[in-house]
Formats: sequence, C-alpha cells, structure tokens
Amino acid sequence: MKKWEENIRQVTPYVPGEQPQEENIIKLNTNENPYPPTRKAVEAYLTTDFTKLGLYPDPTASELVGALEKYYGLEEGQVTVGAGSDDVLSLSFLTFFNSDKPILFPDVTYSFYPVWAEVYRIPYECPPLDKDFRIRPEDYKKENGGIVIANPNAPTSLGMASSEIEEILQANPDVIVIVDEAYVDFGGESMLPLLSRYENLLIVRTYSKSRSLAGMRIGFAMGSKELIQALRNVQASINSYPLTRETIRVGSAALEDEEMFQKNLKRVLHTREWAKKELEQRGFLVLDSQTNFLFARHERVSGQRLFEKLRDRGIYVRHFNGERIREYLRITVGTKEQMERLVSTLDELL
Ligand code: PMP
Repeated sequence: MKKWEENIRQVTPYVPGEQPQEENIIKLNTNENPYPPTRKAVEAYLTTDFTKLGLYPDPTASELVGALEKYYGLEEGQVTVGAGSDDVLSLSFLTFFNSDKPILFPDVTYSFYPVWAEVYRIPYECPPLDKDFRIRPEDYKKENGGIVIANPNAPTSLGMASSEIEEILQANPDVIVIVDEAYVDFGGESMLPLLSRYENLLIVRTYSKSRSLAGMRIGFAMGSKELIQALRNVQASINSYPLTRETIRVGSAALEDEEMFQKNLKRVLHTREWAKKELEQRGFLVLDSQTNFLFARHERVSGQRLFEKLRDRGIYVRHFNGERIREYLRITVGTKEQMERLVSTLDELL
C-alpha cells in the first residue's frame, strides 16, 4: 500500500436507482412524479434571462426562501434551501450530528443515512422496525447523538402519526431530531404544526416528488431560526451558490399554482389505490402507502426474480437486497397507463 493511500477517505457510496437511457421503458424505480410540473414553473423556466447567466446567482436564494416561508406560514429565517434534499440532509448531518454518542435511525429506511454517517464519521445505531415495518417510538428514548426519521418512511411507504413523533421529541430535548418529509404531500402527517414548540426539530422536504421537479434539484429545511442559521453557516462554508438562477425562479414560481399541484397529487393517489388493489388481486401483499410508491411482495415469486423479469420487459422498479426486505419491490406510482402496463405484464409473468 502506498503511504498516501492511508490519507484517502474510503467510502462505499450510495447507489441511486438506475436512470436508463433507452426510449419506451416504464420507469417506476426512483419515485419521480409522472406528471409535468405546474404551468407557472414551466413558464419561469422558459423565461429565464440568459443574458444574466454569466453572473453568479443570489447566494441565499432569498426569492425562493421567502416564497417558501410565506407558503408554509413561517417567519423570516426559518427556511434554507439546497440542491435537492440529499444536499440539505447531508449538510444537516454535518451540522447537527457532532456527538460521540450514536445517532439513531431505523434499520430499514432511506439507505443514504448510513452513507452520510460513514462519510462524516458519525457513530450510528439502527433500531429495528417492528414485524409490520413500523417505527417504535420507544426505541428512540435512549441516549443518542441525534435522530433522523423519514416520515413517511422509505422504502416501506408507511407513515407515523405526528403524536408518535412528538413522543420522540419529548424524550429527546437535548439533541436535534430531523424529520425527512420527502413524501409527506402524498398523505403523511406533517410535523410543521410542531415547529413552534420544538426548537430542536428540523423538517426537510423536496421538490423532487410531489412537485415533479426532480431534475431541478431543490430541497429545503424548515426549523427554528437558530437551527436554520447553523445550517446556513455550514452551507456557506462549503458552497456559496448551491442553486442556479433558473432553479431559484422555478422553485418560487412552482408554489403559485396550488390548484394544478393538488390536481396532480390527487391523480397519483387515485392511481396508487387502484394499483394496490390490482396487485393484491394478483397475490401481492402491499403495505398501506402514504407515499407515491408501493412496497409489495408476492406470495410465491421472489423479489429478485420479479425485478429481473420486469426489467427484461422494460419496466424498471426498485429492489433492495437488505435482509428484511429482499422479497419486496418498491414500485413508484406512475400514470394510470403505466400502471396498467405493469399489471398486464405481471399477468404474463405470474
Ligand atoms: N429522502 C428520502 C426518504 C428519499 O427517498 C429521497 C429520494 N431518493 C430523498 C430524501 C432525496 O430526494 P432529493 O435529493 O431528490 O430531494
């Protein structure tokens, strides 16, 4: 081994779902939204002033931050933004988890959490979900250096009641509790109403799922002014301009078209419930989703086999090899037509 190799930070990276380039595939593997973003968002994108592209964007993205504070009824200084919620979450780990005690997150959850913990050298422990894949609040009442909970959880699709998260907050006044609400718009219970009562609560959200803007990379955090200032300080110490000019414009404009936003959400929810029933009729056990994806296992055919067979037929879903979940598929809710294709393909396969 060369001497300098000792100084290299060795990490096993997070592997996102594939982004296949072929045409005509059905992509149900990364929980993107099958519908277009709102008209106002598209208009803002198309009217970007390209003569200004030679200038740096606003480092604090104040237009977008202000629009989010207004939309969520928060005060100035309670929101910060980043390049997708992965960026915001990663910086939150770096900012808030600086203890020798382990941080806590469930054994089955967003698989980026252990990767950030490893890369930042944060000790962690993973209390197991119960046999029905539910998070048990009592597991989060021991000494720890911080907590992160995805609510609703991924890949299980199950949400916790806000009273259960409040139980966790009450037991943990001395650490930061991060609630990752990436999927909350699809039927989860938001912790927003608790923000005014818990200064140690940080809520992280994304434009990638409910707002159909995964390609723009917009995420944001909401919390007490003290938490947000601490996060901004770390952000500004790493990247002065995390969001592009057009991203800031599109992100603000996207909040203006509530009607179209709600309409798209309803379409996803409607298709989700339809697809759940269809899968159940074909021998799948499907968890009660509060997200834009279904977590399902077949009574006879293994998860790996179904994943491969579907992929051979141009339908991409997500399969994880973790011990407890390897029989499951995580299937993003696409358009009704895409889900019909999924169901008819399963009829050929099963
Ligand atoms: N949190 C959870 C639970 C997710 O599933 C995802 C999507 N992979 C993210 C955060 C990150 O999404 P984005 O970076 O696109 O905002």
